[in-house]
Amino acid sequence: MSGIIDDTNNGTAATAASVTAKTTATTAGTTDPTARLVVDNPAPVLRLDGVRKSFGATQVLRGISFEVARHEVVALLGPSGSGKSTLMKCVNLLERVDDGRIWLGDTDITDPRENQDRIRARIGVVFQQFNLFPHMTVLRNVTLAAIKVHHWQRDRAEARALELLDRIGMRAKANAYPDQLSGGQQQRVAIARALMTDPELLLLDEITSALDPMLVGEVLTMVTELKSQGTTILMATHEMSFAHEAADRIVLMRGGVIAENGTPRQVMDESDDPATREFFAHFRH
Ligand code: ADP
Ligand code: MG
Repeated sequence: MSGIIDDTNNGTAATAASVTAKTTATTAGTTDPTARLVVDNPAPVLRLDGVRKSFGATQVLRGISFEVARHEVVALLGPSGSGKSTLMKCVNLLERVDDGRIWLGDTDITDPRENQDRIRARIGVVFQQFNLFPHMTVLRNVTLAAIKVHHWQRDRAEARALELLDRIGMRAKANAYPDQLSGGQQQRVAIARALMTDPELLLLDEITSALDPMLVGEVLTMVTELKSQGTTILMATHEMSFAHEAADRIVLMRGGVIAENGTPRQVMDESDDPATREFFAHFRH
């Protein structure tokens, strides 16, 4: 096993997909081309369907539908206040949707009967700032939720945390406190913590926005490494050149709806929509 995350989930999914493919092929009694399709298009990791959310009279999400496929990196773009964080909070169950559904794999996570902690263990989240508790060591920060929320034994949590810290070159800092680390190192630790439970989906909400520009690169490099290892990522960002380079797809939010959903090239370079062109022109300097 190599890289920052192990691929237990992905391996399982791939196995399930090939089993399905074999079954389909056998049923057809021949090599059925649709069997291949099943392998290439496994169920999306995340699917939003008609998600709506208001705060008082303010409709922030006005019917949001899109999918994130396994191993896909989707950049969620849009002006400040367009609802990116609200959308992420709905996915992470920090906010409840007013209407619509959100599926994580086969689980309808908007169904109140589902176990919320179990769903959260399947999603890793990193926010813009205030990710680490200042009075706790790096190791304690990384293990805390696994032990307190997901009821892992301390030994298991610490072994997993040290393994993750090792992979990002931060093991020597396990007993340091957050204020002894740079902002970039803190965010990398926060990403490691988000990977503790080997989540199916990683949500990154403007994780470089509060950083000194000098430190943005090391955090984005870590995101690129995760991508190369097949991590499924939905990230809100204002780092347009990074989104263009690293994202498989761009979802652009505007006025509570999805204005664009396509490849970076389609959305950022080739859109005919004047508002879209104006939005990206603004970042081009
Ligand atoms: P973005 O992340 O794209 O900047 P947000 O999702 O943070 O956008 O915010 C979208 C809109 O929702 C903003 O107008 C914001 O003021 C409002 N909003 C977000 N959270 C709350 C809340 N808890 N209560 C009231 N309004 C909120
Ligand atoms: Mg936000």
